[in-house]
Amino acid sequence: MGKVYDVIVIGGGQSALAVAYYLRRSGLNFLLLDKEPAPGGSWQYAWESLSLFSPAQWSSLPGVIAPGGAAYYPSRDETIAYLRDYEQRYNFPVERPVDVTSVSNVAGIFVLETPRGTYQSRAVVSATGSFTNPIIPAIEGREEFGGVVIHSSEYRSPAAFVGQRVAVVGEGNSGAQILAELSRVADTLWVTLKPPSFLPDEVDGRYLFDAATRQYEARRQGKDFRPPSLGQIVMVPSVKDARARDVLHSVPAFDRFMKNGIGWKDGRTEPVDAVIFCTGFRPSLKHLHPMLPVLPDGKAGTEGTRSTAVPGLWLVGYGNWTGFASATLIGVGRSAKKTVDEIVNYLIKHTL
Ligand code: FAD
Repeated sequence: MGKVYDVIVIGGGQSALAVAYYLRRSGLNFLLLDKEPAPGGSWQYAWESLSLFSPAQWSSLPGVIAPGGAAYYPSRDETIAYLRDYEQRYNFPVERPVDVTSVSNVAGIFVLETPRGTYQSRAVVSATGSFTNPIIPAIEGREEFGGVVIHSSEYRSPAAFVGQRVAVVGEGNSGAQILAELSRVADTLWVTLKPPSFLPDEVDGRYLFDAATRQYEARRQGKDFRPPSLGQIVMVPSVKDARARDVLHSVPAFDRFMKNGIGWKDGRTEPVDAVIFCTGFRPSLKHLHPMLPVLPDGKAGTEGTRSTAVPGLWLVGYGNWTGFASATLIGVGRSAKKTVDEIVNYLIKHTL
């Protein structure tokens, strides 16, 4: 039998790094396997102009405050640099690019298959995010449509759409921000399943995190407190600018594609050259099938981050269902710490 690590973390984005930070302190012997050739996780594929909706101080992993302070909103490239520096500072053991294609458990040992060979560990943390599993709704006539159809995960900049008529689908932050940027160079049509809901101008990710923390504490004390939700649109500068240009109007979801455009049941049609679906993601858990049963919404059974179906497996960073605010830089530290505490206890019970 080859080397058996105490823990293997699948992924190399912010969630994997937060777990690595606490694993390093635990003294366990661990390894990160990341599919990407370079550090930064999915931030490497975000659109060029994307910046964080929380100031640097509220966008930091445990141990290192992101540079910029309490009033600075880091850019995509600064976030990638922060994650790269974080990884180097702590000298985490990361192998990349390594795509974990399947995980099984043989007599209490996890066996991870990759194109680079097999890896083994006593515990596994999956921190693979959602970016590689975009949701695009099935809409009639798509094959007939002569234009371009992409998901927000494929959008990089407005350059490819200059002078075109573009439908942007989705009432979340991605939809609003892509619409705002594109509307400066293209004729845009904003398509939303429900009317978009905008947060007050002064509310950003920092406020949302603080409010969500208050809700968490209130619930623990059996009280009721409902903060605004991140499902609402944060008024980042580009969206405020779009509002000033009066382009934040939306139409309801369309029902079919046609050769040159899109159409609604009531007979209305609109010519468009491109459609960009900003319709979200599902957790990237394919590598854990069939060992881990996945629910119809793409999630899996967990208690905190611990899998309820597979002993020795933890899921970190996928959103609130795997820990409060765990899909954010500031929130994932908390679930990472708790995860590593649980892993230490698990390994003491099962192997030592
Ligand atoms: P990822 O960053 O996706 O990293 C997962 C890593 O795992 C990747 O490197 C991937 O290649 C790798 N991987 C996947 N599958 C495998 C496999 N089978 N084997 C090996 N490796 C694998 N968050 C904030 O905190 N503040 C913000 O302001 C903010 N703004 C956002 C704006 C937008 C428009 C979006 C879409 C997200 C935003 N987020 C923000 C959220 C944040 O980008 C993500 O939640 C975060 O990147 C998730 O980190 P992660 O490490 O869990 O996943």
